[in-house]
Amino acid sequence: MLLNGKALISVSVLGEGEGSDLAWVVQEELKEWFGEKVAAWKHLRTDLIKEALPTQEETNLLGFREIGGVFVCGDHAMCASIEGAISSGKFTAEAIFAIS
Ligand SMILES: Cc1cc2nc3c(=O)[nH]c(=O)nc-3n(C[C@H](O)[C@H](O)[C@H](O)COP(=O)(O)OP(=O)(O)OC[C@H]3O[C@@H](n4cnc5c(N)ncnc54)[C@H](O)[C@@H]3O)c2cc1C
Repeated sequence: MLLNGKALISVSVLGEGEGSDLAWVVQEELKEWFGEKVAAWKHLRTDLIKEALPTQEETNLLGFREIGGVFVCGDHAMCASIEGAISSGKFTAEAIFAIS
């Protein structure tokens, strides 16, 4: 959405970009996606949100966990994204239907 001819762009990244200028690194990567116009984008602020996303190491191939008959699904069981959460829910539903 444009407001006064300007757009607000939000970018989420994993990790803290230790030892680097995170805003610069992100802007450089965005240039690869959207081209040189990104150089004109102005960085407004960076918010560090600890434990905002599950670590990717926690994922498993099934896309869910079953603990004593209780099925647990969500982004933590696949990958930290909306798609991961939805896919995990789908796989969980399919597994429950398969044993019903
Ligand atoms: C800042 C940020 C930016 C993001 N940007 C993107 C993006 O651009 N694109 C993208 O694909 N993904 C993005 N994500 C990731 C995405 O939002 C999540 O991966 C996804 O929402 C996870 O869905 P979920 O249903 O697994 O978990 P959640 O959405 O976390 O839902 C879990 C729910 O369970 C509830 N809950 C927890 N404990 C209990 C309990 N004991 N009893 C009852 N309820 C409980 C919580 O309140 C919550 O409502 C972003 C995440 C963050 C934090």
